Amino acid sequence: PSTSETMGFQAEVKQLLHLMIHSLYSNKEIFLRELVSNASDACDKLRFEAIDKPELLESDPDLRVRVDFDATARTVTISDNGIGMSRDEIVSNLGTIARSGTREFFSQLTGDKQKDAQLIGQFGVGFYSSFIVADEVTVRSRRAGSPAAEGVQWKSDGQGEFSVEPVEKVDRGTEITLHLREEEDDFLGSWKLRDILRRYSDHISLPVQMPKEEWDKDASEMKRTGEWESVNQASALWTRSKSDITEEQYKEFYKHVSHDFEDPLAWTHNRVEGRSEYTQLLFVPRRAPFDLYDRDAKRGVKLYVKRVFIMDDAEQLLPGYLRFVKGVIDSADLPLNVSREILQESRDVRSIREGSAKRVLSLLEDMAENRKEDYAVFWSTFGQVLKEGTGEDPSNQERVAKLLRFASTHNESDVQDVSLADYVSRMKEGQEKIYYVTAESYNAAKNSPHLEIFRKKGIEVLLLWDRVDEWMLSYLTAFEEKQLASVAKGGLDVEALADEEEKKKQSEVAESLKPLVDRLTESLKDKVKEVRVTLRLVDSPACVVVDENDMSPHLQRMLHAAGQ
Ligand code: ADP
Ligand code: MG
Repeated sequence: PSTSETMGFQAEVKQLLHLMIHSLYSNKEIFLRELVSNASDACDKLRFEAIDKPELLESDPDLRVRVDFDATARTVTISDNGIGMSRDEIVSNLGTIARSGTREFFSQLTGDKQKDAQLIGQFGVGFYSSFIVADEVTVRSRRAGSPAAEGVQWKSDGQGEFSVEPVEKVDRGTEITLHLREEEDDFLGSWKLRDILRRYSDHISLPVQMPKEEWDKDASEMKRTGEWESVNQASALWTRSKSDITEEQYKEFYKHVSHDFEDPLAWTHNRVEGRSEYTQLLFVPRRAPFDLYDRDAKRGVKLYVKRVFIMDDAEQLLPGYLRFVKGVIDSADLPLNVSREILQESRDVRSIREGSAKRVLSLLEDMAENRKEDYAVFWSTFGQVLKEGTGEDPSNQERVAKLLRFASTHNESDVQDVSLADYVSRMKEGQEKIYYVTAESYNAAKNSPHLEIFRKKGIEVLLLWDRVDEWMLSYLTAFEEKQLASVAKGGLDVEALADEEEKKKQSEVAESLKPLVDRLTESLKDKVKEVRVTLRLVDSPACVVVDENDMSPHLQRMLHAAGQ
């Protein structure tokens, strides 16, 4: 169509816009970070496409982002000479949210500003954050390789609709003009913008430029020279040496790659040399993304080859149980034209994955050892995901097992902070196994009648109720040569822990109760394998136990619920 067309935002976009304007107000300068971040992504994409099609760079090969303002018109403009957008791309990118799980996410919003602001932080606000400070946003774009006549202009006041129309655009790329709200005059100054840009984009690997100014003695004021100058260092952060990078820069870089609002919990930055050569800068977030349990959700590690961005969401770079990790891996060995298919087969990628998994585990071990409070935050956020490692990564099972934390009868609380090593250090004389109970909730676990005998004998039992636990226990069968044993299974060795007197009592009781046991055996014969007298109960009259080799009742219920 050659004329202007008006369209409505997707319902979720409308909700996002409304919430954002009302709940992120105290964070409003983030719009600049988001827009510069998008501009930098767009340049990365172009550089990648230009590997095969150098003509896309036209006569303008130096990729950069520019920020300018016009105090009279009350506008701030962010422009890039990156990949640009076609009409269709602009309509879908700036009018809908395509991520899976978006609808569920929005149904969790409560109307409580503070809570919602946090949730939105997890979701990532991106381009739409422009409307925190602007009452009208104009985007002009032309895709690299398209003729100047195929430019497109998108415009909206952020209320519910946007318009698109064709325009002539000579320069490739995207230019976003924000018309500021009345009260946002602050952003109409060179000093203020430079200050924010330095803070938010110093890690960006291409130049972020502003108009160059010089002191004009006669006029006694700063005057523009007509040139542009960089306000950032413009070298990829991960290529710099650790000692040249400040904590602040690491944190900002994290926010750029992760789309998170909050600081990361920890990071690891290494240059690996040897059989395979690469640099990794990997972060552990403080908060879970809303789609952590969505198996198809995007992964957070970006792949670069010799500083050229290759792809987001490169799932081969880390095992699935470390999918919460965000960051960058830059390989010196892979070909620039590497595809997802090649990644799957590549030996270099396998060695990157193994090396990166080990680095992340070291980072977690260090946190568990030296920053216990942070580790507790990590565990409550990502512990359930890490548990998947016990089955998924046999070569690191022992390291993962050491990182696990459980609730236990020792603490009598639902806080998961007992390690297997803690448990082993408290094992009783003669105790050979690590005991646990699985149930559907903490309360069900701690009230299990199976625990009575253990409590009486002062033997600690781990309390497990996370969904993944049964699955984990089918892989994790021992720790430091001590078997993990369910308190609900078979003969156990608790009876072995009984003293002689109790054993004598048991055989006497068994003798005297034989008629009752026989009658119960007869009447329950279709339902149970065996009825017997036990020492394991203290207060409850009876309980059901599972044979050593059978499925636990909790797992049976889960399979049943899953329709099996
Ligand atoms: P995200 O960056 O997380 O994908 P955004 O809301 O920030 O989400 O941006 C949405 C999409 O719009 C981007 O994925 C990209 O496809 C497109 N986009 C935004 N800004 C630009 C730009 N400057 N150049 C090209 N495409 C852009
Ligand atoms: Mg973005």
